[in-house]
Amino acid sequence: RLDVNKTIQWMQLTNEKMQANKDYLTTLDQPIGDGDHGINMARGFQEVASKLNESTYTNVSDVLKDVAMTLMSKVGGASGPLFGTAFLKLSTKLKGEESVKQDIFGTALTEAVNGLKQRGKAEEGEKTMVDMWAPIAQLFLEDSNVTADTLLSTADSALTKIKEMTATKGRAAYFKDKTVGHQDPGAASTYLIFEALAEVWK
Ligand code: ADP
Ligand code: MG
Ligand code: MG
Repeated sequence: RLDVNKTIQWMQLTNEKMQANKDYLTTLDQPIGDGDHGINMARGFQEVASKLNESTYTNVSDVLKDVAMTLMSKVGGASGPLFGTAFLKLSTKLKGEESVKQDIFGTALTEAVNGLKQRGKAEEGEKTMVDMWAPIAQLFLEDSNVTADTLLSTADSALTKIKEMTATKGRAAYFKDKTVGHQDPGAASTYLIFEALAEVWK
């Protein structure tokens, strides 16, 4: 379950991971992009952490809405509006929920995936962050008891698959077949978001 405090904790942990992996994410974006993904994510989540620190919240939806708005306004490039859309969909779908149960979170994640696909005009299998969000959404909908272990193993196996895909969307699409064997930066940063979730989800 997720309540207000856990949601805030989830985002603070995500920020810590983005700072710790800033250089790694940028390194991933160098061969198949423009080498700014770590900078984008570290800046965006630093702003998210500050915003959440200076505000008080009574529901999960409002926390996630501020996350979405902050990412949309502070992260440039392709990923800012995409992560912004995903968190905005989560926020909208979780409106009124004080304690978010697994099934409603699964529905909200599915909305986030649909929003991402629409926004990025991407489908699954195109080597983008969609390929990380989608299997996690599916896990929450279909597994009767999501745990830190099932979350991490789903995210791990998604990463392995994504690495071998050929990029057909975003900047990486210009590198075509050369993207095979390289990890997608947006999938790697999304992995960190769910790794942080695994630490608070119970
Ligand atoms: P930019 O490519 O504008 O520099 P970032 O480097 O911050 O933006 O983010 C790149 C990541 O965004 C990619 O690794 C990919 O996961 C994701 N991405 C890019 N374009 C799309 C798209 N059309 N649909 C879904 N995800 C995308
Ligand atoms: Mg980039
Ligand atoms: Mg860029």
